[in-house]
Amino acid sequence: MKRHCQQRLPDGSFCRAAPLKDSEFCLFHSPEHKAEVAEARKLGGLRRRREVAVAGAYDFGGLSTVGDIRRLLEVAVLDTLSLDNSIARARTLAYLAQTALKALQLGEMEERLAALESAVLDREPSPAYDFDLDLDPLDDDVKELLP
Ligand SMILES: [Zn+2]
Repeated sequence: MKRHCQQRLPDGSFCRAAPLKDSEFCLFHSPEHKAEVAEARKLGGLRRRREVAVAGAYDFGGLSTVGDIRRLLEVAVLDTLSLDNSIARARTLAYLAQTALKALQLGEMEERLAALESAVLDREPSPAYDFDLDLDPLDDDVKELLP
C-alpha cells in the first residue's frame, strides 16, 4: 500500500503527499524541515510580490494574448533603444521588429477571424434541406442489373 503523510489537514483528512524517506511526514509537514519550508515560503512570497511590482511598473499582463506579447515587445524595444548604439543593439532591434511584425500579422488574423465568426454566428439558421430522401440504399440503375 502506498504510504502518505501523517499530517491531518483542517478538514480532518490526511495530507495526500508522499512522505519523505524514513519519515511519517512529507517535506512540508516534516518537523525536521520546518525552518527550510518557512524560508522557501518567505522567498516564494517575496518573489510573487516582486513579480506584481515589476508587472505593474511595465504595465505587463502576461503572455496570453497578442496584445500582451506586443506590450512585452514595446518594453524590449524601448529598453534596447535606450542603450548605446552598437551592432548588437541594431541586431536586437531588427529581431524585435521581425517578431513585432509577426505579432501584428497574428493580431490582424485574430481580429478578422473574430469578425468572421460573429458574422457566421449572427446569421439566421439556413432552412432544412428538402431533398427527396430515397432511403433505399440501392439505386434504380443497380436494381436493374440484379437478377
Ligand atoms: Zn504532508
